[in-house]
Amino acid sequence: MNVLNKLVVATLPAVPKTLIRQFANRYIAGEDVADAVRVVRELNVRGAMATLDVLGEDIPIPEEALKARDMIAQLLETIKDERLDSNVSIKLTQLGLKLDRDFCLENAGRIVERARALGNFIRIDMEDSSCTTDTIRIYRQLRKQFDNVGIVLQARLRRTLEDAESLIREGLKNFRLCKGIYIEPEEIAFKERGAINENFTRILELMLDAHSYVGIATHDTRLVDSAYRTILERKIPRGNYEFQMLLGVRPELREKILRDGHRLRIYVPFGKQWYEYSIRRFKENPQIAGYVLKALFTRNRLN
Ligand SMILES: Cc1cc2nc3c(=O)[nH]c(=O)nc-3n(C[C@H](O)[C@H](O)[C@H](O)COP(=O)(O)OP(=O)(O)OC[C@H]3O[C@@H](n4cnc5c(N)ncnc54)[C@H](O)[C@@H]3O)c2cc1C
Repeated sequence: MNVLNKLVVATLPAVPKTLIRQFANRYIAGEDVADAVRVVRELNVRGAMATLDVLGEDIPIPEEALKARDMIAQLLETIKDERLDSNVSIKLTQLGLKLDRDFCLENAGRIVERARALGNFIRIDMEDSSCTTDTIRIYRQLRKQFDNVGIVLQARLRRTLEDAESLIREGLKNFRLCKGIYIEPEEIAFKERGAINENFTRILELMLDAHSYVGIATHDTRLVDSAYRTILERKIPRGNYEFQMLLGVRPELREKILRDGHRLRIYVPFGKQWYEYSIRRFKENPQIAGYVLKALFTRNRLN
């Protein structure tokens, strides 16, 4: 991130929430389940699948984890009732990972069990590197009982190639592969875009060669193009992979992937915690944060 972008991002906390909200509308479905249903239905009509995320992470007390667990279980019922083409993504720190690992496992297990009963699937998001080992451990434990659950691995981390290899060896082969959103120290993470992309491609090839199911989660045209080549060269069946993108990011690429005949899933976050999520997105793309500030100072119309 260059100096100007750093400055822009540093200024964000001073920006009124109402202004952030107008920009956030692009990245989140809304605050309520009804908003999520509406957005997923629109995506489904356009030929895209969805994965719903109830916003929230790092909960401080067990009661909040239980509340999140019940909300997610209820969401699974709604998906079924509304006949949506959507699975659900969960964050383990929202289910108490930082409070007690067994408590978190129990909560995640209840969700995956409910999803199984309803014919649905749960994807465990990957959080910052302090969670990686525990998240993989919980995934392994859940897979002893359930096969409707998959994990996310981050190409940014140096350890990921080995993690992917050992999970594949154990037959645990349902992945989402992304670059990784968290800023991590150099000892454990690649810093250069080229190195991250190279690792992404290498791990993607490993996963696909091992007949894994892979969610290829990126908006990077170069990675999408190289994934296309890998899929074509290795004759990967259409049912073994899907592309994945975040709601509100690069809709033109989304349309292209669909037009090219690939399956595509959109990550649709919703809930009361929209502010924290949006700030994270702005940090990823300070250009948008810049528009927010410009609107603030020039009093431009926002929409
Ligand atoms: C479906 C999905 C699930 C994810 N799950 C996780 C997870 O569990 N854990 C995790 O750590 N990370 C997750 N991520 C985030 C991911 O790791 C990256 O941070 C993010 O996708 C940006 O990387 P990129 O591959 O798109 O490449 P980048 O090089 O960052 O972006 C490529 C291009 O996409 C556009 N772009 C990217 N981000 C934005 C944005 N916010 N707003 C507007 N344009 C943008 C820009 O034009 C940019 O040049 C997920 C991403 C997706 C798509």
